[in-house]
Amino acid sequence: MKTILITGAAGFLGSHLCDRFIKDGYHVIGMDNLITGSLKNIEHLFKLEHFEFYHHDVSKFIHVPGKLDYILHFASPASPIDYLKIPIQTLKVGSLGIHNCLGLAKTKGARLLIASTSEVYGDPNVHPQPEEYWGNVNPVGPRGVYDEAKRFQEAMTMAYHTFHGLETRIVRIFNTYGPRMRLNDGRVLPAFIGQALRGEDLTVFGDGSQTRSFCYVDDLVEGIVRLLNSDYSLPVNLGNPDEITISQFAEEIIKLTGTKQKVIYKDLPVDDPKQRRPDISKAKEILNWEPKINRKEGLERTYAYFKKLSKEELIATEHNNFDKFILK
Ligand code: UDP
Repeated sequence: MKTILITGAAGFLGSHLCDRFIKDGYHVIGMDNLITGSLKNIEHLFKLEHFEFYHHDVSKFIHVPGKLDYILHFASPASPIDYLKIPIQTLKVGSLGIHNCLGLAKTKGARLLIASTSEVYGDPNVHPQPEEYWGNVNPVGPRGVYDEAKRFQEAMTMAYHTFHGLETRIVRIFNTYGPRMRLNDGRVLPAFIGQALRGEDLTVFGDGSQTRSFCYVDDLVEGIVRLLNSDYSLPVNLGNPDEITISQFAEEIIKLTGTKQKVIYKDLPVDDPKQRRPDISKAKEILNWEPKINRKEGLERTYAYFKKLSKEELIATEHNNFDKFILK
């Protein structure tokens, strides 16, 4: 039986990865410091023989007894509001955290896959973004703590690969959505759905002409499994190339939820990328992968999850007031 360590296991993506590797017959060790993750996302796994959980901050030395075949490094705050609230932890988990994971992988002879991001492309001048594009990132802007941590993480991972011969994989994840996203993480989808469920107006930032391309979580997880099992060590984009404007997206959420509320416009945060769409030619060619779940189906599945949350959860996780964080 193969053993896999998943950092950020209690987060949105980490918890779906735990589910997938349990289903595939692995012994799964989840690790999380629970700053942004929630035990609720993995509580159904605690009764299983082949799931263990370590409450640990990966920015500190990591000790895991026994053998390890794979490590997935998914621990990191990953939404603009999170990395504005906890910028130092965001930098630490992408730098000290990856160093600890790399050291552990080297000791155990494990293969390491790291979660990178489309944010490494910044506010891109090339559209859609292929892996060869080096990006347009502001290191000292508010997003810099996330973007540069992830860029450093890629550099560190490549250095261990070339210098120590470590088996490494790098996935650049574009906007992904699905059940278990945090209602108050500030991301556009939980923001809009939370607003609709609470009977509030939907807040579109800027004029809503900025674009994003949303990938359903199950498609992403399938791509990650394929990348882990491939022999390709350079970065690979994973995302859904179906691109829409944020205004159109708000209209889709209004239709989906049947809310009577309207769209209101707020200031656009500084350095908010104007357009984003993955070029997934590489994933198609190397992994024979492309997304299968369209936005209509994915949004219905996601809405079904949010609808089940209790009134208390909806209020307790009231959408963060972004005004405090307008990045001027
Ligand atoms: N956004 C918005 N209203 C919100 C939250 C976000 O219009 O309540 C916009 C945000 O400015 C950005 C897009 O939606 O242009 C996607 O934002 P998100 O935080 O989900 O991800 P990212 O900017 O990292 O792609």
